[in-house]
Amino acid sequence: MTPKLFSLESSGGRRTIVRVDGREIGRDFVLIAGPCSVENETQTILTAQKVKEAGAHLLRGGAFKPRTSPYSFQGLGIKGLKILAKARDLFGLPVVTEVIDPRDAGWVSEYADVLQIGARNMQNFSLLKETGKIGKPVLLKRGMNSTLEEWLNCAEYILAEGNPQVILCERGIRTFETYTRNTLDLSIVPAVRELSHLPVIVDPSHGTGRARLVEPMCLAAVAAGADGLLVEVHPHPAEALSDKDQALSPEEFARTAARVLDLHLYLKGTERRS
Ligand code: PEP
Ligand code: MN
Repeated sequence: MTPKLFSLESSGGRRTIVRVDGREIGRDFVLIAGPCSVENETQTILTAQKVKEAGAHLLRGGAFKPRTSPYSFQGLGIKGLKILAKARDLFGLPVVTEVIDPRDAGWVSEYADVLQIGARNMQNFSLLKETGKIGKPVLLKRGMNSTLEEWLNCAEYILAEGNPQVILCERGIRTFETYTRNTLDLSIVPAVRELSHLPVIVDPSHGTGRARLVEPMCLAAVAAGADGLLVEVHPHPAEALSDKDQALSPEEFARTAARVLDLHLYLKGTERRS
């Protein structure tokens, strides 16, 4: 049987590099930060400015929100995408934003530098195929009930359409533990690297659901070999319209980013020496 496209075997051991506006994800460490939802222009622009100053490389923000309740804030839609585009122009930060419907993938990609497929949509096969056809980089989150094999097979759907630019993102899985929102499965990072050439990043915000746990798990993810991190940041976390318990303030993010980038540099140094 021919090896699957996601496999390290199929690439002959070469690791995929996903280029986003000059940044080589898979080679360069990538820090993605921003609000869970784009709520308004002031909130998003201020967050973008602060995360840029703290060293983030990409801005994240949801304009289409997959919410558990249909009565919760669903996102600003196209208005939110326009706000993200403005933030990108002001600060030179490429934008990662979620697409939840295959019918929207084409036009959303005109505003996004990276299309996010959320945990709840990991196995939305028509969405996977559509983003595969579009050819923009895709950030594929792990489904909260998914095995590594199921996750990698979802990446395969995108790759099989001819789009090699897939970034995997571990964001926690459901376990019996309820203190944390999810259980961040950091062992998946070296496991992905054993089986696949695709870059893998970690999202400790959704992975823990608690702001105070985000920094320690960011550091742990870097130590586990993650190619980057995705962190939710809000100018006033207590007022966030979604995921307020896990959002860092800009000051908290600045401290976390500095520690993360330092640790990454330190570990790169020890790698060279070994
Ligand atoms: C998000 O990134 O805001 C999000 C909804 O993430 P997930 O799909 O991992 O829950
Ligand atoms: Mn969120």
